[in-house]
Amino acid sequence: MNKKIVIVGAGAAGIGMGVTLVELGIRDFLILEQKEIGHSFKNWPQETRFITPSFSSNGFGMPDLNAISVDTSPAYTLGKERLSGKDYAEYLELVAKEYHLPIFTNSSVNHVKKVKEQYILETDLGEIIADYLIFAVGEYSFPKHSFAGSEHALHYSEIDTWKQVTGNEQVVIGGNESGIDAALNLAKLGKKVSVYTNTTGLTAKEADPSIRLAPITRQRFMEFKETNQGEIKVYQKVCIANIQPNSEGYEIQTTDGRSIFSKNRPLLCTGFMNGAAILAPHLFDTTSGKFVLNAIDESTISNNAFLIGPSVRNQGVIFCYIYKFRQRFAIIAEAIAQRENVPINQTRLAYYKQQAFYLDDCANCTVDCQC
Ligand SMILES: Cc1cc2nc3c(=O)[nH]c(=O)nc-3n(C[C@H](O)[C@H](O)[C@H](O)COP(=O)(O)OP(=O)(O)OC[C@H]3O[C@@H](n4cnc5c(N)ncnc54)[C@H](O)[C@@H]3O)c2cc1C
Repeated sequence: MNKKIVIVGAGAAGIGMGVTLVELGIRDFLILEQKEIGHSFKNWPQETRFITPSFSSNGFGMPDLNAISVDTSPAYTLGKERLSGKDYAEYLELVAKEYHLPIFTNSSVNHVKKVKEQYILETDLGEIIADYLIFAVGEYSFPKHSFAGSEHALHYSEIDTWKQVTGNEQVVIGGNESGIDAALNLAKLGKKVSVYTNTTGLTAKEADPSIRLAPITRQRFMEFKETNQGEIKVYQKVCIANIQPNSEGYEIQTTDGRSIFSKNRPLLCTGFMNGAAILAPHLFDTTSGKFVLNAIDESTISNNAFLIGPSVRNQGVIFCYIYKFRQRFAIIAEAIAQRENVPINQTRLAYYKQQAFYLDDCANCTVDCQC
């Protein structure tokens, strides 16, 4: 099968990109999803809620923060402000249906190679040849195991419900969004929680919520402290080097030679990797640990291969939230249309710009709040 454009992944980014292509008048594409639409969201712990609130502010130049298409709003569709993963997956399914997106589910892309100017994809559907490849494989399916023995810990992404974690005491490794969320959920169940972390967004001074802990997580933490009903201790500047199981439990070694004992299996909240670096490492320059992209989020070493979603970094801006990375879809669509010499719906493009769904100049994006 030959397709002009293939999007890999039907999560927030893949669906948002698909809607943008349709709305701007580009139809020769398909989306391949290894499982189901919104698979990552369906796998969140049951108790997890969005940290960015949803509100139907569309129409005032401020679309719902969690909308992945300009005229939709999960707040309106679901009547909720704080969405669960299952809620959001439902929203994505509805958007995909509304825009008749050409999606093949249960269709994993297993290998990608570039031959001349085309991409040959080995997929569960057979070989697919594409001129443009847009990676939207996300991070949640690719948990980060960054030190020796970390496989002995339970990763946040393996949690279905916090009720499945047994024992009265729990060690959490990592103290940012997922680590503090885990600690709060576990403490609420009556456990004594110790968080060991190199850095924590709890004390970060930066205003950008991509670095600082989100207001809702901070608020939950403060409210928990005020009620004094459980125990969360946060140990900062601790870097874990190794986890070794023994007959008593787990010995956790730090890089400065200390040893921490945990009777129960430690919980790993050290984040995720982007799957594009695993699926197609040869197509991107990631030697710095980040994807090197040009001004339109295209690989600097493979023409017509793009990255979308939370791992995009451009002009010093971290695009890790939906309200940030959705502003890059139209830029890619516009670039592809120009290369293919096909007309783009200019009225719609102007509307995207008006509704803050198009960000090409990040000069004013530094989140530097004075108060
Ligand atoms: C606990 C938690 C809370 C969060 N809260 C917020 C929040 O409040 N607000 C916010 O803006 N962001 C939040 N995020 C981040 C947000 O979830 C991600 O930014 C978003 O999911 C990224 O979208 P994506 O489409 O890039 O990735 P995903 O949603 O992960 O989608 C990627 C898709 O690609 C598929 N895939 C992977 N590999 C292949 C393959 N080889 N072939 C085919 N398909 C493949 C996967 O199955 C998946 O469906 C949160 C994340 C977590 C973990």
